Parts: sequence; C-alpha cells; structure tokens
Amino acid sequence: MATTAKGPAEVTAERLRERGERVTPARLAVVEVLANTEEHLSAEQIGERAEQLRPGIHRATVYRALDALGEFGLVTHVHLGRAGTTYHLAGDLAPSHLHLRCSECGSVLDVAGNILDPVRRKLQRDLGFRLAPEQVALVGVCADCAS
Ligand SMILES: [Zn+2]
Ligand SMILES: [Zn+2]
Repeated sequence: MATTAKGPAEVTAERLRERGERVTPARLAVVEVLANTEEHLSAEQIGERAEQLRPGIHRATVYRALDALGEFGLVTHVHLGRAGTTYHLAGDLAPSHLHLRCSECGSVLDVAGNILDPVRRKLQRDLGFRLAPEQVALVGVCADCAS
C-alpha cells in the first residue's frame, strides 16, 4: 500500500486522464488555487490567483477550465446571493460543507455537510425527493446581527 497522500492537483490530473480529458496548466492551476484556500472565491478571484500561480495563463482560459471542471464533477459551485457564485473542489477532494448566509450583513458561514441529513432522509423517504442543498446558501440572520 502506498502511503504518500496525493495532492488535489495530482488526483485531478489522474481523474482527467481516466476520463480521456486533457490535463492543462489552467485546469491544474484552478485546482491548486481551490485546494489552497478556505475562502469563498469568485471566478474572477480564482482567475487572478491562477494567473499569479502560473504566469502566462489567460483569464478566459481559467474561466473555461472552471466550467470544464464543473462539468466533470471535480469542482462544485455555490450561489451566495448578492455575494455571487463561489467554487469548491468537489467530492472527496474537499470536506463537504453547507453555507449559511446572513441576509443582514452578507457574511457566509461554513457548516458541516451532514447537518441536514435527517431532513434529507425524511424527504427522500416521505416524498421520494432528493434534497441537494450544496449549491445554494441557506439564508438567515447571523449571531452578530441578531443580537
Ligand atoms: Zn450578519
Ligand atoms: Zn464553503
């Protein structure tokens, strides 16, 4: 058994190859940017950082890479309301989490991805409905604004 953990960029490269997709510098740069942040970056911010990481990559190429990685299921996006859309590595490459957005101040909190599991199971059982809350932020009022 190999014990060396592979980085997200290597894992992504392998998965791209398995699918017969090209491993491009822009695609790898996007994964590296996402793997190295806990922030909620917009496509524009990812573009900026990818350019810094690998000078010579064009912004438009980064956006296309982001779309492609989304189609391949390697990157997910979340709608954060006015704060725009943010991106995360998908599946086992990133800890699953949900987003809480404060409607007063716009701040975004990450919470464990399984907190809605009881609701998810109930909806599935009672209605056959498959809840997919990962792509939206749950809206409410944060502790600071509520006090
Ligand atoms: Zn707030
Ligand atoms: Zn997040």
